Amino acid sequence: MIARVEPLTTTRRLGGPFDYALPEAPLAVGSIVRVPFGRQALDGVVTGFAETSVVADDRLVTPTAVREESIPAELIELALWMAAEYCSTPARALQLVLPPRGRARTELWAARTDALLDGQRLTPNQAALLDGLPRAAGTDLGALRRLEARGLVAIAPRARRRAPLVLGAADRAVAPTSAQAEALAAVAGGGAWLLHGVTGSGKTEVYLRATAAALARGEGVIVLVPEIALTPQTVGRFAARFGDTVALLHSALGEGERYDEWRRLRDGEARIAIGPRSAVFAPVRDLGLIVIDEEHDPSYKHEGDPRYDARTVAAFRIGRLGSPPSVGTSDAAVAEAPVGSAGMAGGSEVGGAAGGRLLAGSATPRPETWHALPRLTLRERVDDRPLPPVRVLDMRGARHPLHPETRRALTEARKAILLLNRRGWSNFLTCRTCGKVWECPQCDVALVLHRAERVVACHHCGHREPVPDRCDACGSPALARHGAGTERLEAELAEALDVPVFRLDADTAGAKDAVPRLLNRFAAAPAGLLVGTQMVAKGHDFPDVTLGVVVDADATLRFPDFRAEERTFALIAQLAGRAGRGPLGGRVLVQTTAPDAPAIQAAARHDTPGFLAGELARREALEYPPFADLIRVVCSAAAPAGPRAAAGEIADAAGHAAGASVLGPAPLFRLRGRHRSQVVVKARDRRAAIAAVGAAVEAAARRREHRDVAFAVDVDPQ
Ligand code: ADP
Ligand code: ZN
Ligand code: ZN
Repeated sequence: MIARVEPLTTTRRLGGPFDYALPEAPLAVGSIVRVPFGRQALDGVVTGFAETSVVADDRLVTPTAVREESIPAELIELALWMAAEYCSTPARALQLVLPPRGRARTELWAARTDALLDGQRLTPNQAALLDGLPRAAGTDLGALRRLEARGLVAIAPRARRRAPLVLGAADRAVAPTSAQAEALAAVAGGGAWLLHGVTGSGKTEVYLRATAAALARGEGVIVLVPEIALTPQTVGRFAARFGDTVALLHSALGEGERYDEWRRLRDGEARIAIGPRSAVFAPVRDLGLIVIDEEHDPSYKHEGDPRYDARTVAAFRIGRLGSPPSVGTSDAAVAEAPVGSAGMAGGSEVGGAAGGRLLAGSATPRPETWHALPRLTLRERVDDRPLPPVRVLDMRGARHPLHPETRRALTEARKAILLLNRRGWSNFLTCRTCGKVWECPQCDVALVLHRAERVVACHHCGHREPVPDRCDACGSPALARHGAGTERLEAELAEALDVPVFRLDADTAGAKDAVPRLLNRFAAAPAGLLVGTQMVAKGHDFPDVTLGVVVDADATLRFPDFRAEERTFALIAQLAGRAGRGPLGGRVLVQTTAPDAPAIQAAARHDTPGFLAGELARREALEYPPFADLIRVVCSAAAPAGPRAAAGEIADAAGHAAGASVLGPAPLFRLRGRHRSQVVVKARDRRAAIAAVGAAVEAAARRREHRDVAFAVDVDPQ
């Protein structure tokens, strides 16, 4: 027997796995080993075994060490599938499922033995010590050791959990509404489901009960949430209901904390993993249910390599990917039968070992999910509060960034949220005399003015330089600022209105705990404005907010991307979900120069089904997902010729894939000093196109003349 080991290197040019002789220590699929590799030593993962090797026996080398913790075999299979599905490499995909670095921390734990006191004499201090057991020995170790010597106490090391902080949230026991009960019955029947309901319609309560049902069946659960800092309530409610059986997997955890949570899941001590997209790799035992909260959230797509989509990975992990969807028949809550498509496959066949349950929820589901999954609908808010009316304000010809109606509403509202999806003071700087535009030296984009920090900054690479006081091309001191970002809006509102203004964007969210602090201050303030980027539209719950304003809906709508409509609709609808959650009611104003755009009109009517029907028809006509799969390849290098040539080769090769059409190669703007060229493949046969693109990239990457070119493949780009 030999072990097949995938060495963990990042290069694309090395194709594993490689054969190794078995060491003394037992190995399994998922064992992490240290292996001699050429003249170096590398970490590697055992991906399989074989009877014989093509390598001669006397040339086979043996791993030098085996790590104590191993990866569950199920996650090895998942990683190898991801490597192929996202045209990446096994090594890069395996990196995602590795246990966190760290070691268990132990403490001495003292407990009473069965020994009876039998009239043994105890000092009051000793009696109190015995009464307080079991607990960590801590500073009483000496006194406890003396009781141990008398046979009354047992002291042993025990793994100590470095518990991550969970914001406490109240949890009330409620009886499910009939709509919730119907949804739960459908999920109990098995399969993958979309739970559609506006904010406050009781979706989280369904997740909680579906989780309890899975635990009762002896299954483990993964709950995916968008960024935890922005959704502390959901995490808090799971922690409140399920206590220590919840493991929180959070990118901001310390190394020790992350290790402990991973270990608790791997050992089966914790049964529920909750966290952002990477929690889809949690080593949960007997996984039976994955919940995806706010399934439309773009954060579920990973921008590293492999560029995985946690929603697709979840469907694979639960055994619900690619199988032909079967129609939900068990339940009245199913509004419409699903249609076959790529991505998540729906169905209500009874779950078994092969198929766990998937429950994706949102007020604004993605067209892909709406199309692929059978739907469970929660039509009303639990408290029967109506959704706030949305008014569209026409900004064509407006000279002031705020419509008069918006200004009036702001003076009347005590608390309001304003969304402007652009940070900084102004979008760009120009010279009034010669027309020079200040651009990033590394990227072909304009620099954004950040006034408080006195810099102009590149939002793509982070380049910063001092604000110029004159034009370095012509010497003119007359510089013009164009456009407005959140920083400027904050300053103007603070000047115009007599209430505190809180700004939430990537610039104010940097420091640890900055976001919860800021949100808590806004929540506690009797009056105030919360101004920020799309971060302000996430799942916060401020009952006294009566006004929501989308300052510039065009910022997302004009984005050159087929998802622009979907994003705009979701942003407006999500902001509407923030306003009017209390007895004071509320309303939403949307400023736009495209008041008739279907996405804006549908959002104003709170018409999610209408929007999605129109959007799906448009996607079908244009052959966009879910009616075709997109694969994007970006080639980049310091000089422009290489990426252009490599992209051309890939376009030619991929064009031969059955039913695929190829867009490009097209130049992209220079980024971080690298020239880029892109190819987009629209595929009708997903499998064939992924294979063709993967082979084309591999062939191009192996060619000597492209050794300076980097290749990034994005399957299902967002
Ligand atoms: P969503 O996740 O859709 O925003 P939640 O599950 O958070 O909705 O429910 C909104 C509010 O209604 C919460 O305060 C929740 O405790 C409450 N709630 C949910 N279901 C019920 C129910 N069946 N009976 C009473 N209150 C409920
Ligand atoms: Zn000039
Ligand atoms: Zn830059």
